[in-house]
Amino acid sequence: MVETIKAPSEVGAEVEAYARSLGAEIYGVASAEKYAEVFPRKPQPSRFVDDAKSVIIVGLPFSQEIMATVAMPWLAEIHRKGSDEAAMDQRGSQRPPAGAERYFMGPENTMLTHEVSMIGYRLARKLHNEGHRAFYLPDVVTEPRFKTAPFYFMPAMYLAGMGQLGMNCSIITPKYGPRIRVTAVITDLELPAGEPMEEMLYPDCKTCLECVKRCPSKAMDGRYWKNVFKCSNYGCSATCLSVCPVGEDMLPLSAD
Ligand code: SF4
Ligand code: SF4
Repeated sequence: MVETIKAPSEVGAEVEAYARSLGAEIYGVASAEKYAEVFPRKPQPSRFVDDAKSVIIVGLPFSQEIMATVAMPWLAEIHRKGSDEAAMDQRGSQRPPAGAERYFMGPENTMLTHEVSMIGYRLARKLHNEGHRAFYLPDVVTEPRFKTAPFYFMPAMYLAGMGQLGMNCSIITPKYGPRIRVTAVITDLELPAGEPMEEMLYPDCKTCLECVKRCPSKAMDGRYWKNVFKCSNYGCSATCLSVCPVGEDMLPLSAD
């Protein structure tokens, strides 16, 4: 029997359809070669898979309703505790305790991390079973002293044309803004890759600065730079995600 060789576009469509059948609402592919060309100083896909050809990004959006609660920290009903005093002093005594804004985000973040990891894991298994090498990034833990990661998703998302870097140092996407959770599957299967967006997705990002102004730990400088130590010491409030006006998913937020 003669084996039919599928066109790359057909293979690409099949892989995407499989990922979507697993529940992926966010999907894109970056070329591993382009990754090396454009981001030579980042950890490379070939670190994980010899002769890596593609980086597949899969993910899910955060719930709009839970994201909106970030701007309504009083819903958490957390009462002032001793450990919150220092943060309270900096933020003004009328404000809710530090951390209240992410109260509902924690459980959802855990759940999304698990769901997205399962999509990545299953997609990698399928590729592996079909004879390709495929490495999925389990929930990536950053090196605590230096906040470095073994692999960075944002460059791949940019190259795949899934979004652009926002002032909040996250990739902002047309549909969900920065309110997404993703993982990557690195494979030696060559898939049709996306291209970076040509037009600025949200030109007002440079002047909006809503994320910078509302960051409770003052971690961002408004020039695409974030002090990751300040952010994580505070506990990553997610305020810079919830207030970003980019995305079709935005619900009206409280004026706070
Ligand atoms: S940088 Fe960190 S602390 Fe600041 S708004 Fe974003 S998640 Fe919150
Ligand atoms: S909140 Fe405004 S400045 Fe920040 S990333 Fe979104 S659009 Fe850009």
